[in-house]
Amino acid sequence: MITVGQPPEQMTFQLGLRRRGISDRLVLRAMEDIPRDRFVEPNDRAHAWRDTALAIACGQTISQPFVVAYMTEQLQLNTGHRVLEVGTGSGYQAAILSKLVRDVLSIERYRTLADAARTRLEALGLHNIEVMLGDGLNPAANLGSFDRIVVTAAVEEVPAALTDRLEEGGILLAPVGPHNGVQTLVRIRKTGDRLERKDLVDVRFVPALPGIAREL
Ligand code: SAH
Repeated sequence: MITVGQPPEQMTFQLGLRRRGISDRLVLRAMEDIPRDRFVEPNDRAHAWRDTALAIACGQTISQPFVVAYMTEQLQLNTGHRVLEVGTGSGYQAAILSKLVRDVLSIERYRTLADAARTRLEALGLHNIEVMLGDGLNPAANLGSFDRIVVTAAVEEVPAALTDRLEEGGILLAPVGPHNGVQTLVRIRKTGDRLERKDLVDVRFVPALPGIAREL
């Protein structure tokens, strides 16, 4: 996994993920392949390989790399999957997903963030991601259903509008809890008409808000 010639901070980044328990080789490889420094603000490039969330435009954040890797692992992805992400932000999580699945649809409520993420993902040659401006908590019916859904903004409860869109055997991950506090990362698996819930770990995400943002 660690290749000769990688800058030291990227080696430390990979080692940190492994030390914290990320073991899925495909996830580790995706984390290695996607240059996080392309997703942070120019002023933060020197900090891109630290295991912390960082501020991006519109008062939002790019998630902590460990949390991105952990969520990706918990999604149990395969190359046939169609995945919905709610909360594109920088596009980093979408980029990681795109290495592991067939198609990613990522929805963002800020036009500025959606446009910047789209440009960035295209520049990296990641063509199996569609970034859409919209309210990801209420995806339009014509978008169809998904094998996996990952919500990367905090919700007070698991949105039925999203579990309704899961395929049989599908998995949804969402940070559930108060908007300005600690949330629990919850995994829902759909089997028949049952939803099986498992609480995973404590996380902190910016809040999911309804509707398209009126500010840019
Ligand atoms: N996954 C991102 C980090 C997400 S931060 C990354 O890898 O960089 C959470 C994002 O969710 C923010 O950009 C916020 O604007 C967005 N968001 C919040 N509520 C939303 C909603 N209802 N629909 C779509 N996006 C939403």
